[in-house]
Amino acid sequence: MSWRVGAETDLMKVLISACLLGENVRWNGQNKYAKKLLEWAESQDLELIPICPEDELLGTPRGKISLIQIEDNLCANYKGSDIASGLRQKCEEINDRHTDAAGFIGIYGSPSCGISAGVKNLGKTIKGFMHQSVECPSTESSALKNENNREIFLKRMKKYER
Ligand code: SF4
Repeated sequence: MSWRVGAETDLMKVLISACLLGENVRWNGQNKYAKKLLEWAESQDLELIPICPEDELLGTPRGKISLIQIEDNLCANYKGSDIASGLRQKCEEINDRHTDAAGFIGIYGSPSCGISAGVKNLGKTIKGFMHQSVECPSTESSALKNENNREIFLKRMKKYER
């Protein structure tokens, strides 16, 4: 398959969780290859830019990160340490590197790339750190299984690009 990944083009640039592109950057060294999503991106002439904040910060393979609310603080527990601040900074750094991106596609449930990440003791979900960091429209792969949602996301990105 020949979608344009990180090429220098005039196409609309869209950040995407690298594991969706088939890169083995998940905590366990595996991926979440999303063939249909990538076929759709190619049909829309999108230039996909893979990003993985956790791989950049911690390497792969790594332990799992879990979000937990402790008093007033949202903590990202990694092997007994709170890495929320470092992970947030990494996501902001990635965003700063790609100010020309028109959108970000993340993945369900991830503390970094999920649009609704679970937080122990909080009683509600929060946006993962990448979604909090980007200024462009963001969504996640599961939402884009729906054609109507794909159309809406494209419109949001085109409006943002203007
Ligand atoms: S941080 Fe994001 S891109 Fe990296 S493995 Fe987790 S979900 Fe995939």
